[in-house]
Amino acid sequence: MNSLRTQIAARVHARTPLPRTPRAVRVLTYHGLVETKLDPRLERNFHTFDQFRSHLRILRRHRVVSVDELEAGEVPSGPWHPGRSTVVITFDDGYSNNLEAASMLEAAGLPWAVFVSTGAIGTGVPIWTNTLAMLLLHGRPRSGTVDLAGKCWPLASREDRLACFNSVRGGFKTLARATRLAAMDDLAGQFDDGEVERLVVDIPSMSMLSWEDLDEMSRSGVTVGSHGVHHELHNPAQPDDVLRDELKGSRDDIVRRLQVRCTTLAYPNGDYTSRSIELADEIGYRTAFTTEDGLATPDRRMLALPRISAPGTESGFIRALLAGTAAR
Ligand SMILES: [Zn+2]
Repeated sequence: MNSLRTQIAARVHARTPLPRTPRAVRVLTYHGLVETKLDPRLERNFHTFDQFRSHLRILRRHRVVSVDELEAGEVPSGPWHPGRSTVVITFDDGYSNNLEAASMLEAAGLPWAVFVSTGAIGTGVPIWTNTLAMLLLHGRPRSGTVDLAGKCWPLASREDRLACFNSVRGGFKTLARATRLAAMDDLAGQFDDGEVERLVVDIPSMSMLSWEDLDEMSRSGVTVGSHGVHHELHNPAQPDDVLRDELKGSRDDIVRRLQVRCTTLAYPNGDYTSRSIELADEIGYRTAFTTEDGLATPDRRMLALPRISAPGTESGFIRALLAGTAAR
């Protein structure tokens, strides 16, 4: 009897799913760190130093692995334990304030990866998504208004600016590179020359790393991955040659400038198509990260791995680590 009961119990136990996929990894997405946010809309993806310090305190209790270890499958194979998750830390875009992140992560002894848009490195000009946001949220158009998307937008008040930015932003993200460049040129032409450079001085969190910074970070063990050359989004309108240039050009820039291999990438804005995956594979990438929320399972879909956008608050961060999702 006892033996039968034990057998049944063992069977039931065997059929009970583990609380989480054992080899699932929590890949965290960050962008930049600031003391305080000057503009919550523009810096919506940023964390404060205090928030990041508290994240690092929590992460000490978990197992943080590098992208190399993830690519090599060197992640724990045992059952998931709520108090000890496997985590990968990533930063997107390549902001100069990532240098502070580098110091903090080095002091904590934690590996991490930075995904950079190589065309913006060392140029003093932000990636185009931020240029658009800065011009519309803070720029001073010569006439006081901007003609954009077939409409004349006043930029007098903060409400005006947010209305304009929120209305046109999504449309820009659907454009192919050539159309997007023409639209950005048209917009920039409505401001004084040097407006973007002036705005970066006022809002220094938008400034980008230099190649010297990246070289130093790379030498200290930080993984430098691709985030495209010009942060072009992999939307359905994007021609094949643009996708290829973005994926290959950025990889070649990193290899040439830093003398390291580059086998990992984060799709700009997290957008990707089936063609992105084919090209990334063909060019030699081994891992690619999206911004789809959820757990990354390192034995499948290595070229479309989900990530968790790190919540700012300590309680949100703990909850996201536990649940494997930033969704509440
Ligand atoms: Zn980005």
